[in-house]
Amino acid sequence: MNFDYDLFVIGGGSGGVRAARVAASEIGAKVALAEEDRYGGTCVIRGCVPKKLMVYASEFRKNLEDASAFGWSAEHDGFNWQKFRKKLHLELDRLENVYRELLRKAGVDTYDQRAKLLDSHTVLVGEKKFTARIILIATGGRPFRPDIPGIENALVSDDIFNLKSLPKSIAIIGGGYIACEMASIMNGFGVDTKLIYRGDQILRGFDKDIRDHIAEEMTKSGISLSLNEDITEINANAKGLELIYSDRKTENFDEILVATGRIPNSDDLGLENLGIQIGSMGQIVVDDYSRSCIESVYAIGDVTDRSNLTPIAIREAMSFIETVFRDAPEKLDYRFIPTAVFTAPEIGTVGLTEEEASQFAPLEIYTTKFKSMRDGFAGRQDRVFMKLVVEERNQKVLGCHFVSPFAGELVQLAAIAVTMGATKLDFDKTIAVHPTIAEELVTMRKPTRRA
Ligand code: NDP
Repeated sequence: MNFDYDLFVIGGGSGGVRAARVAASEIGAKVALAEEDRYGGTCVIRGCVPKKLMVYASEFRKNLEDASAFGWSAEHDGFNWQKFRKKLHLELDRLENVYRELLRKAGVDTYDQRAKLLDSHTVLVGEKKFTARIILIATGGRPFRPDIPGIENALVSDDIFNLKSLPKSIAIIGGGYIACEMASIMNGFGVDTKLIYRGDQILRGFDKDIRDHIAEEMTKSGISLSLNEDITEINANAKGLELIYSDRKTENFDEILVATGRIPNSDDLGLENLGIQIGSMGQIVVDDYSRSCIESVYAIGDVTDRSNLTPIAIREAMSFIETVFRDAPEKLDYRFIPTAVFTAPEIGTVGLTEEEASQFAPLEIYTTKFKSMRDGFAGRQDRVFMKLVVEERNQKVLGCHFVSPFAGELVQLAAIAVTMGATKLDFDKTIAVHPTIAEELVTMRKPTRRA
């Protein structure tokens, strides 16, 4: 059968663009991509990139506060959100164009429209039908809003980058990546910030010591952290937004942000008609090679709800290319996924938490907590925390966790060692780089405890 395209990609985010570009430019396939919104997807337009730029902007407060301790006299008029936002959006426009250009140069046909599947080889784009040998769905996800009265008054993370002005006060609901990062950013901008989480400690799934330490540091930095709280209603009134808790107490804020997870964009893609299996969270169910139960239909990235991180979507795209176009089926190894949470200070983590590792092996736990040279000099009380989870029997480093300035950068390098299967002795043999924060990683001599 002759198809219009070898590959039709639905979704122009990190995963979709990578797959389309590589299939066209490296394989020489005839490729089309449809995107109904902006190119670059969540990461570039309303996620990682604008968030990280906001992290940088928010960090200046600490640097300006500490400048005099280092001999500088720094006069400033405070943070100008409108000025920053204008520059931020210019940068996002530039990046979106980069993505469009990448596709154009690779020879991918792009359609700035919504697409849906009509059958296992046919895609409907607006009024037009196209056939393709392979269809790849990379439509990402969107913020989830809990079903409570007045939730429409709350912001979700997508809205943060478009705020007309910064609120004086904000309540952030949730205790995951986005809630914690946004709490640190808003606090850094000088917004009165309250983080409200339903459980015992924020960042469920991370190592317990890391969760406790970051909660302490965030509280020290001025964030009001409220645990074991459920909200039941949000009312708009003359004073702003009224938050009603499950015990009926109320509190007013200028803005409320709900950061209660994300759900896959799998609606209205025609998947049900084809009998494509959809999971309980709306995710497209795929096998280890990203193939759905229909042979010609694949899915990658957040729409599959495996590990919702940009580098994973990109890796899934590359494995998809190997499997489908290079005849070299490739499964992605999800065991060692380094990740960072851009709180202040940052969290960096790779491998197993103590709680996970202790399920299957006796452990040695190495921890260190200290004040960095910079923060000590500036008279700050901030503390760095580092932890190694080591399997006692073979001395393998199973997990490496940091709460520290630049933890995202540190963990990228530590992840090489942990992924390679480094032992504690390998860490001990490594010469320290002095004076740095990271040197403590190779100078923890005695286990703090066994587990
Ligand atoms: P997360 O899954 O990280 O966290 C969701 C939070 O919302 C949890 O604390 C959860 O609580 C809470 N929650 C869920 N439902 C409700 C509810 N009905 N009422 C109250 N609280 C609720 O999601 P995020 O939205 O923070 O981020 C989405 C994903 O995006 C992340 O998991 C990550 O994969 C990715 N991401 C990665 C970043 C990075 O790499 N730096 C940055 C931002 C996002 P509980 O724990 O009790 O279930």
